[in-house]
Amino acid sequence: MFQEKFRLDGRTAVVTGGGRGIGLSIAEALAEFGARIVIADIDRAVADAGLAALKDKGFQAEAHVLDVTKPRDVEAFAERIVAAHGRVHILVANAGIGMSGVAAEDTEDERWLKVNDVNYNGVFWCNRAFGRHMLKAGGGAIVNIGSMSGFISNRPQKQTYYNASKAAVHQLTSSLAAEWADRGVRVNAVAPTYIETEMTRYSEGNEGMIDVWLRDTPMHRMGQPHEIASVVHFLASDASSLMTGTTVQADAGFTCW
Ligand code: NDP
Repeated sequence: MFQEKFRLDGRTAVVTGGGRGIGLSIAEALAEFGARIVIADIDRAVADAGLAALKDKGFQAEAHVLDVTKPRDVEAFAERIVAAHGRVHILVANAGIGMSGVAAEDTEDERWLKVNDVNYNGVFWCNRAFGRHMLKAGGGAIVNIGSMSGFISNRPQKQTYYNASKAAVHQLTSSLAAEWADRGVRVNAVAPTYIETEMTRYSEGNEGMIDVWLRDTPMHRMGQPHEIASVVHFLASDASSLMTGTTVQADAGFTCW
C-alpha cells in the first residue's frame, strides 16, 4: 500500500525550466516513478539537451520552448499539452533566475522587474493556467520551487530582489492551496538551500563566499539537484495526500540558525 502511493504511472507531469539543473533532476525523478514528462524551457538547445538526457535513460518525455513570463504563451501551452495528453496531473513550476549580487539601494529597475517576472509572475501564470485544467479535471498536484532565500536574507551576496521574489512564491503557494483544497488540487512548495547548478556557478572562484555559505549551514555542505527532486516527487505523489499549502525546507539545516 505504501509503495503504491509513490508511483506516478499514467500521470503527465510538466516541469518548467526542466532542461537542466534542478528541473531536469525533478523530471528524471518523476519519470522514474512512471510519469510521462513534458519539459518546458526558454532555450531550445537546453530543452533538447534535457530531453536527450531523459531519453538516454529510457524515459518517456517531450520538450517544448516556453517563456514563463508570457501569460498568453503559458495559457496556449497548457491548452496544447492538455489537448495532447488528455490531462496534466502534475505541474512543477521550477523556472527561476538569480542575477545575484547587487545591494538594494543600487538595484536597477530592470533587474528587479526581470527577477520578479520570472520567479514570481511566471510561477503564477503557470499555476493559473494548469490549475484551471486541474480544477476542471477534478484534481492535480502542483509543486512550486521557492527557496530558503524566501525565509532568510542570504549573505554575503546581496539579493533583496531574489529573496523577495521567493517569499512571494511561498505565499502564493499557500493562497492557491487554500482556494483549491476542496476541489482536489494540492499546491506545495520546496525551499532549497544552495544547490550545485549553473545558478550557483557564479560563486566558483569566490572561496570567501562559499566559505560563508558552508560556515552558515549546519550540514556544512551544498545540496545536489537530486536531493530536491526527491522532495518534489514526494509532494507530487499521493504519499503527500494530506499536504497542501506547505513550503518544505530542504536546506541542510540552514534556517535552524
Ligand atoms: P538553472 O539556471 O540551472 O536552471 C533554471 C532553468 O530555468 C534554466 O534552464 C533557465 O534557462 C530556465 N529559465 C529561466 N528563465 C525562464 C523563463 N522565463 N521561462 C522558462 N524557463 C526559464 O537553475 P537551478 O536549477 O539552480 O534553479 C531551478 C530553481 O531552483 C529556480 O527557481 C531557482 O530559483 C531555485 N533554487 C535554486 C537554488 C540553487 O542554489 N541552485 C537554491 C534555491 C532555489 P536559461 O538559463 O536559458 O535562462
